Amino acid sequence: MSASDPMQLGHMAAEAEMVKAFLRTKHPVELSEAEIADLKARITARLRAEDAVLVAHYYTSPLVQALAEETGGCVSDSLQMARFGHDHPASTLVVAGVRFMGETAKILTPDKRVLMPTLEATCSLDVGCPAGPFAEFCDQHPDRTVVVYANTSAAVKARSDWVVTSSIALAVVEHLAARGEKVLWAPDKYLGSWVQRQTGADMLLWDGACIVHEEFKAKGIEDLRRVYPDAAVLVHPESPAPVIALADAVGSTTQIIDAARRLPNPQFIVATDQGIFYQLQRQVPDKEFIIAPTAGEGATCRSCAHCPWMAMNELEALLKCLDGGPAHEIEVDRELGARAMLPLQRMVAFSREHARS
Ligand code: SF4
Repeated sequence: MSASDPMQLGHMAAEAEMVKAFLRTKHPVELSEAEIADLKARITARLRAEDAVLVAHYYTSPLVQALAEETGGCVSDSLQMARFGHDHPASTLVVAGVRFMGETAKILTPDKRVLMPTLEATCSLDVGCPAGPFAEFCDQHPDRTVVVYANTSAAVKARSDWVVTSSIALAVVEHLAARGEKVLWAPDKYLGSWVQRQTGADMLLWDGACIVHEEFKAKGIEDLRRVYPDAAVLVHPESPAPVIALADAVGSTTQIIDAARRLPNPQFIVATDQGIFYQLQRQVPDKEFIIAPTAGEGATCRSCAHCPWMAMNELEALLKCLDGGPAHEIEVDRELGARAMLPLQRMVAFSREHARS
């Protein structure tokens, strides 16, 4: 791969952005119980006054997730977030997650106002797949159906035939392969190669990765399994192949929670962002959850599996976005949004159809 390779350039941009994000992410400020209660009350009042509903991802902090539930919003994966925001009658959506989630909400519901605690919360997959080089890559392979992961910009979605999330990726590619279509997949190479192994589809993969899931270590999980011999291993498919190979269940965040409920094991080693532990403990309270290791030999911490961009969704930022103007509002060019809406609507329709069958 040369330095002018579009995929290589995307990878370098993602790494640079990741370093900046870590530098921006301050240590979480310790709030007293009284301060938390006060912030939550003020946010709840502002949500009501703005006819707004809070839509939060499983990787946000327990405080944000609890607030979304207490105020009639939702906590879910990116597919359910998109569907919930689309179907909810509120005129303003407050999206606690990363930027592509806010953009997806705006594309699907262009007449609603979409606010985010910070517009700086990006994703290494999004940054690593810039629209220009990606379009060039697609142009080189006109015989392939373009399938992109939801973790991409509106411009990349607009260049695609299908958008998928991790909960629906397998079913969509199976559907395309059955029709004899060859796939160009972007941006997550690990998720793409897992889908390829599962479906046997002809897939050409963009070279992107999630900085959180890429760090899980197969050796560390094997060691942990010896300590917890009754534990099952639950893995998100953005993880490397040797980690996926150890899994008792592989799936999206929602599918991981379902597997924890369904499998008989008393303990689970979980390879995904540690934000999900709040919902796992709430929804499956009688079982024990252990974070999968990201650290190599000699490291001082065992697991750093937390997305620096998801961590930006703090309560203070949430209040600020409901008080503050354009600095927190997602805008998507109407014409670009209309083009990106087609592959997104295709996914939403397919997921509804798939759920029924
Ligand atoms: S956890 Fe990974 S895929 Fe999810 S937002 Fe963060 S960088 Fe992106």
